[in-house]
This record gives sequence, C-alpha cells and structure tokens, in this order.
Amino acid sequence: MTIGRPERTDLKGMTLPEMEAFFAAWGKEQYRARQVFRWIYRRYVDDFAAMSDLSKEFRALLSDSCRVSAPPAECIETSADGTEKYLFRLEDGEAVESVLIPDGDRRTLCVSSQVGCALACSFCATGAMGLRRDMTSAEIVHQVCYAARRLSGRGERLTNVVFMGMGEPLRNVTEVSRAIGILLSQHGLGLSGKRVTVSTAGIIPEMLAMAEKVPLSIAVSVNASRDEQRSLLMPVNRRYPLRELVAAMKRIPLQSGRKVTAEYVLLEGVNDSPEDARELARLFRGGRIKVNLIPYNPLEEAPYRAPPPEAVDRFREILLGAGIQAITRERKGADIRAACGQLRAASGGNRG
Ligand code: SF4
Repeated sequence: MTIGRPERTDLKGMTLPEMEAFFAAWGKEQYRARQVFRWIYRRYVDDFAAMSDLSKEFRALLSDSCRVSAPPAECIETSADGTEKYLFRLEDGEAVESVLIPDGDRRTLCVSSQVGCALACSFCATGAMGLRRDMTSAEIVHQVCYAARRLSGRGERLTNVVFMGMGEPLRNVTEVSRAIGILLSQHGLGLSGKRVTVSTAGIIPEMLAMAEKVPLSIAVSVNASRDEQRSLLMPVNRRYPLRELVAAMKRIPLQSGRKVTAEYVLLEGVNDSPEDARELARLFRGGRIKVNLIPYNPLEEAPYRAPPPEAVDRFREILLGAGIQAITRERKGADIRAACGQLRAASGGNRG
C-alpha cells in the first residue's frame, strides 16, 4: 500500500509577488520568497535541502508542503549545426519540445506554450496535432531553466527566449504572462524585455494588450500578402484579417530603435512571387516593421515546397528596394525536425 503525502504546492511557475503572498500566509518575511526564487531561477536548484541559506526549519517546512517541478527531458537531439531539441515529458504524459539555437554569442531558446495548437496553420506540424491543452507557467518556465542550467554547465549563458515553439502564446495569455514575469524578474531569470520575443499568429486584442503592459519584442506570423491567400494558410485570418493585423502592428508601442518583426514563411508557388513581395512592401510602408523571411522547412505530409534560393533572394531584394528591412533566416536544426513549423511532440507513449 502506498501512503501518499498530501498534494504539495509547486513553487515553480509562481511569480515573485505570488510567492511572497504564499509565504506571507505562513507569517514569513518577503525576502524569503526572493531567496527561494533565486535558488530556483538563478541556480536552477529544485531540492529544498540544497538551499543552504535558508534555516533548517524553513527547509523542512518547504519539503513537507511544497515542491519544485522539473519534468525530465526524455530525449535530446543535436543537429549537425549545434541546434539542440529537447522533448519534455509532462506530468500527465503529454509531451512538448523546445529548441536551443546557438548563433555566434547568442543562445536562443524557442519555447512551447501549448501542447498542440488550435489554429491549424496549414504549413505547421503543431497545428496538425490540434490543441491538447494549455501549458502551465511552471511547464513553460521549466523549459528555460533546463536550457539555462545545461548551458551554465558548459560555461555558456542563455541570452534570448522566443515563444515560437508549439502553440499560440496569446491563446494562453495568463500562464504565458506569469512565465514572462519570472523571465524578466531580476530575482528570476533576469532577461531584458528586448531579449524575450512573443510570436503570434495575429491575435490582435491580446497582442496589443501584452505589448502595452510589458516592453517585450513582438513577432507576427504574416506569411501572405492578401487575405484570401492568408485565410487558406492561416484560418485565424478570417477572424483577424491582414489589413487590421498590419494596422495593429503599426500601433504597437516601441522603444526607440526597435521594430516589430513580421515572420514570412516562403512557400514555392504560393506566396513567393514578386507581386507578393511588392504587395507586402505596400502593406508595411510607414510602419516600424522588419521582415524575417523563412524558406519553408519541408514536412512529408504537407503539400508545400521551399522556393529556390534565387526566388528567396529576389523576394528579399524587392522588400529592401522598397525600404523595408528584411533578412533571410538561416535554416537551423532541420535535420532533427527542430526548424520552424516542424515541432510535433508525440504524447503518452504514442511516439513515432
Ligand atoms: S504556426 Fe503557430 S499558430 Fe499556427 S498552427 Fe503552428 S503553432 Fe499554431
């Protein structure tokens, strides 16, 4: 017979004010929360016994009533270009993926915010899964702790976090906002807002609300120059059409020198024509918008192909010629299905 202990409260995923309030209910001072917070997010410790500057009694109390969740990375794949993909097995058996992308001095972690996604973009493996559930702030932030700890073990530092993994972060705003609070807290992961990017398929009200609340970087998956084309690729366009979306992108409050990123996945014969590039330039005119061009990363089951490099260059040159900043994103991790749009973690013993 197993005698279980009562459900312990997970401290991971609580924001600092939430943890302060939680300890205050025990009659503990505010600085206790800062101490525990630093252990979890600065030193990546999940065992209370190792939190050596806490009193013995407090550690015992914490061990009895609390825990710090740390879902294991069940599988780690490393690409020839150094990109790493982690598959985390969550407590209910679901699975999500995160991707660590090294680039010069940068170490960028692409995190997931939902298990699957309801938005069903036609070029995306996650969309094909449908939405299984939202992730908790603990599950979201754990991906970052895991990568940061792994990097610190080899003398490196995580520099950037992008919400471009599985899921639409603005369809899970409450948990994503809590996770962002921890990423930006000086007692937490201590990242600056410009190094944290929320990427959305274009959920306009939540995008504007979040941009007004927190000085983050915002990226928008645009992927088309016309409504009919975008609605076919991204059904969410029927709710938030392209012109309204671009108008909202132009209203996002930005610090000086900053721009909103428009992500544009190039699909051969679908959205990669010179006319598409010219139309996109017309749409973006007058906005502080830069374009990331992403040649499509093939999926066996999808009916798309990447354009040849000349078509990608021609598209970019048209944008540049119209005064729109545009770069072509290097394809990273495609050999381990870690590239943009390729994430599709299998769940509950159903991998393959
Ligand atoms: S591209 Fe993003 S929003 Fe679209 S289905 Fe994939 S995960 Fe969801």
